[in-house]
Amino acid sequence: MVQSVPLYIEGEFRQSATQRWVDVTDPASNQVIAKLPCATDSEIEAAIADAKRAFMSWKEVATPERARLMLNYQHLLKQHHDEIAALLSSETGKTTVDAKGDVWRGIEVVEQAANIASLMMGETVENVATDIDSYSLIQPLGVCCGITPFNFPAMIPLWMFPMAIACGNTFVLKPSEQVPLTAMRLAELFEQAGAPKGVLQVVHGQKSQVDQLLAHPDIRTISFVGSVPVAQYIYQTATTHFKRVQAFAGAKNHMVVMPDANKEQVLTNLVSSSVGAAGQRCMAISVAVFVGDSKAWIPELVAEMAKVKPGVWNDETAAYGPLISAAAKSRVIGLIEQGKQQGAICELDGTGYTVAGYEQGNWLAPTVFSGVTPAMELYQQEIFGPVLLCMTVDTLEEAIALVNANPYGNGTSIFTACGAAARKYQHQIQVGQVGINVPIPVPLPFFSFTGWRGSFYGDLHAYGKQAVRFYTETKTVTARWFDDDIPAALNMSIQLK
Ligand code: NAD
Repeated sequence: MVQSVPLYIEGEFRQSATQRWVDVTDPASNQVIAKLPCATDSEIEAAIADAKRAFMSWKEVATPERARLMLNYQHLLKQHHDEIAALLSSETGKTTVDAKGDVWRGIEVVEQAANIASLMMGETVENVATDIDSYSLIQPLGVCCGITPFNFPAMIPLWMFPMAIACGNTFVLKPSEQVPLTAMRLAELFEQAGAPKGVLQVVHGQKSQVDQLLAHPDIRTISFVGSVPVAQYIYQTATTHFKRVQAFAGAKNHMVVMPDANKEQVLTNLVSSSVGAAGQRCMAISVAVFVGDSKAWIPELVAEMAKVKPGVWNDETAAYGPLISAAAKSRVIGLIEQGKQQGAICELDGTGYTVAGYEQGNWLAPTVFSGVTPAMELYQQEIFGPVLLCMTVDTLEEAIALVNANPYGNGTSIFTACGAAARKYQHQIQVGQVGINVPIPVPLPFFSFTGWRGSFYGDLHAYGKQAVRFYTETKTVTARWFDDDIPAALNMSIQLK
C-alpha cells in the first residue's frame, strides 16, 4: 500500500489537510512508493509558530543537557544505522554501501554537535581599561530553517538541524520532495532520543512552501543545499527578507592527473569518484585533467569504466544505482547528445543500459568523453550523472588556469608523487576543498564543508566551527565593578581572608 508521508509539526506526526500531493517513486522501477503532501499555508504557519514557542524554553536548557540529547541521538542513529540505510536506498536507489556511508557521515555531525559546549565558548580579555573586563557570550538566534536536496537524504539534514538545535535554536526542515522518508525517520528517532516537542518541525512541499519559509519574519536563518539556479534564488530572496543565508550549490570538480602519479591509484579512484552514486554527488569528480604524458592512460581508464555496472540497491555486485528520476535521466542524456554534436569524442556510451527485471528504472551506465573543450555545453553545466569528461593540458600551470577559470569551486584533487607540485596546486587553486591523492576530499565535521565561488553563496559554511557561528549571535559584554560598591562588612571579610 502507498503510504502518505506525515508532517511533523506541533510535536506530532500528522497527516496534512492539503489537496496537493506529489508522488515519491522508487528510481529503480519508477513505481510510486509514497504520496507527499505540499503543506498548506496554515500548516507551515503552525510549524513556525510552534518552533518559535519552543525556542523560548529550549534556549534556557543547560548547554550540557542539549549536548546529552545529541549523545542519545547519536546512539539511536547508530543502533538504527542499517535500517535507515535500507529506507534511504528504497527512495534514492543508492547501493547499500553508499546508503550506509550517507547515514554515517550524518552521524559524525551529530557527534560533533555533542561537543557543543566547547564550541560555544566565548572569549575574555581582562583589564581592557582599568578595572574593566570584556567578554563575549555566544547565544542562539531563534527559529532556523533547512531546505535539502535529494542526493544525501540523511547526511545533509544532519549537517543542519543537530548543530542548530545543539546551539539552542529550534528548526524547521523542508526535505527534498523526492526523498522525504529518510528525513521522517530521522525526526522519529530525534523525538525518541528525548528532543522536546516543537524543537524540530518537518514540513513538506515545493517552491510555494519554500517561498513561505523564505519570507517568514520569524525565521532567522536559511540553510540550503541544492542546484545552482535554486541556490541563487534562495540566497537572493532570503537575504531580501534580511535572513542569514548559507546556500550550497552545484559543482564541476576536476581531478588533475600528473604524469608521475601512481597509475593504478589514479584509475581506481577516478572510476569510483566519477560514477559512484551514479555521479549524483556534489563532490563527484566530473572532469579528469590529464597533464602531459598521463593522457596515455585514457584507454585503460575507459576499459576500467566499461567493467562498471549499475544495479538495484540490494544487488551486492552493483557499483551504483539509478538516477533519481526519469526527468534527471533525460536531462543527462540530453547533455550527452549535445556533447557528441559539439565534437566531444564519446569513448564509452552508457545510454541504453537496462537492468533485467527493472526495465523501467532510470539506468545509465558509465559514459566517458575525451576531446572536451571548455566551450562545450557538457563542460559548462553540472551533469550530475555517471559521466566523466577527459581533458588534456601540457603543464601544471595550464591545469591550474583551467580549473580556476571554471565558475565552480566545490572540490578538486591532484594525483602526483611530487610534494612541490601538490603544494603549488593547493596554494594556487581557487577551490574550497582540495584533495592530494584523495579524490573526494569531504572534510570531517570538526572542519567545515567549504565550497567556494559558484558552488556557495554566503559566508559561513556547514558544520564545524563555522556552523556554530552561523547558528549563533555573539554578544560582547564590557563590565566594570566599582570597589566603592562593596559593602563595608563584605570588604572586611574579604580582607580577613
Ligand atoms: P534542487 O535545487 O532541485 O532542490 C533542492 C531543494 O530545493 C528541494 O528541497 C526542493 O524542493 C527545493 N526547490 C526546488 N526548486 C525550487 C524553487 N524553484 N524554489 C524554491 N525551492 C525549490 O536540487 P536537487 O536536484 O534536489 O539536488 C541536486 C543538486 O544539489 C546538485 O546540483 C548538487 O550539486 C547540489 N548539491 C550541492 C551540495 C553542496 O554541498 N554544494 C551538496 C549536495 C547537493
